[in-house]
Amino acid sequence: MIQLFLPLNFLGFVYREIRRALTDLENMLGLFKRKPLISDTADAQLLQLTQGEISFNQVSFNYQQQRPILQQLSFTIPAGSKVAIVGASGAGKSTIARLLYRFYNLNSGNITIDGQDISQVTLDSLRRSIAIVPQDTVLFNSSIRDNIRYGRPDASEADIDHAISLAYLTDFITSLPQGDATLVGERGLKVSGGEKQRIAIARAILKRSPILIFDEATSALDSSSEQAILKAMREVARNHTSLVIAHRLSTITDADNIIVLKHGQLAEQGSHDSLLAAGGEYARMWQLQQKQQN
Ligand code: ADP
Ligand code: MG
Repeated sequence: MIQLFLPLNFLGFVYREIRRALTDLENMLGLFKRKPLISDTADAQLLQLTQGEISFNQVSFNYQQQRPILQQLSFTIPAGSKVAIVGASGAGKSTIARLLYRFYNLNSGNITIDGQDISQVTLDSLRRSIAIVPQDTVLFNSSIRDNIRYGRPDASEADIDHAISLAYLTDFITSLPQGDATLVGERGLKVSGGEKQRIAIARAILKRSPILIFDEATSALDSSSEQAILKAMREVARNHTSLVIAHRLSTITDADNIIVLKHGQLAEQGSHDSLLAAGGEYARMWQLQQKQQN
């Protein structure tokens, strides 16, 4: 009985360890490959990125039938500009980011980058061109440095150091006894939401993609972490085409264009000042948030 029990117990241990390792791997891959349905077309071309202009043309999309999420949505992000997307929770903001990264195919319409339909270019060339700081960053069970390196595995050590400093992580890292060798992730050091976001920003900086997406990178942070992250984001976004999804409107008043999304449709767009002057949905949201702050 005992003889049987021990090996079984041991096998159970091995099994659990393998399961764990596989889950880590899945979590890691899950960042980039949500759905196996998405693959290159037979004659997919390399994305030729010249300026970095992004265009959504009559885009309709739903996750499940009978429940439209984006409806005939059209907008353009001129090359090198910063466009913000705002709107209530559930409006479809993160969906826009996911579609641009081609986690899903559209129901109708198309998305182009410099005039090329993203469904007709190789996934690899598309995703190399875009760095996302997602709403919920996943850190895998490894050192802080490895988590950053993941942005571009062949980056030099000097490039990683530079990304750490641009993302305002230096103070945090030097405060740790093991520095950037500190293990993070589910079984490592518990890092705060702000620290995690800055690790994600460092990853994005390292990736050096011409197009950047920040999905609520500063929501749910205290205002001093928020300021540090905003500074880091501005640093990275310089000379890039950037799409910033924001909950707190005070973080995107400097955007070249602000798109207000409502139930998956474009409600209005313009600069902060012009939207305030228009006295519509944006102005209403702004006043509401100003009140909540006081
Ligand atoms: P936002 O970022 O504006 O808060 P999302 O783009 O995440 O909104 O989601 C838009 C809508 O799509 C929400 O109603 C949400 O519940 C739904 N949704 C998001 N992801 C999925 C999914 N994977 N499957 C089904 N519905 C989803
Ligand atoms: Mg979202």
